[in-house]
Amino acid sequence: MLNELGDKVTLVAVSKTKPIEMVMELYNQGQRHFGENKVQELLEKQPLLPTDIQWHMIGHLQKNKVKTIAPFVSLIHSVDSRELLEKINKEALKNSRRIPVLLQYRISEEETKFGMLKSELLGLAAFAIDNLPNIRIDGLMGMASFSDDLQLVRSEFRSLMECFRELKSTIMADKPNFQIRSMGMSGDYKIAIEEGANMVRIGTLLFGTRN
Ligand SMILES: *Cc1c(COP(=O)(O)O)cnc(C)c1O
Repeated sequence: MLNELGDKVTLVAVSKTKPIEMVMELYNQGQRHFGENKVQELLEKQPLLPTDIQWHMIGHLQKNKVKTIAPFVSLIHSVDSRELLEKINKEALKNSRRIPVLLQYRISEEETKFGMLKSELLGLAAFAIDNLPNIRIDGLMGMASFSDDLQLVRSEFRSLMECFRELKSTIMADKPNFQIRSMGMSGDYKIAIEEGANMVRIGTLLFGTRN
């Protein structure tokens, strides 16, 4: 699948609440990127499944849980504070690796949504470049409002894309890995791709509804 800009779109299959048999079914069809939003569930599934699965942590992450996923996590989508990023850097160092992360941009006005405002996000990216050598910032993640107002959803994705471009042309200009726009879920992935997403996180459409 290509997005409007002609980039490949990576599908992250969101397997939260679903059994490992269902993960294996998709794995056997060639899917390798899977996402979980709870550390506990990720830790239960990961040892039972093939080692070439790339695990994405997509949910809100508490600092005290970083060390448990640091050895194997492939991409953390939900970085929303300096304290969390410093903790990830520290655990990455202990594991002699660099951990790829996305900075979570708060595109929705909804109070329940996590993420940083643009100024905070720009500041954190600059701080990480100078101070956190075991972090690699691969892009941005955002969640649109849960709304039937498609124009609102579209404008929210567009604002993430603008923020991405601003970073790409300034402090991230010499960082070739800064590429990912993780936006779009089952209900809004088409709009997200039209607006420049190159990573989508899909659960319900692949695995059915959750309880
Ligand atoms: C659950 C979840 C998804 C997938 O949602 P669906 O609507 O089931 O596709 C995507 N992103 C995050 C952060 C999630 O928690």
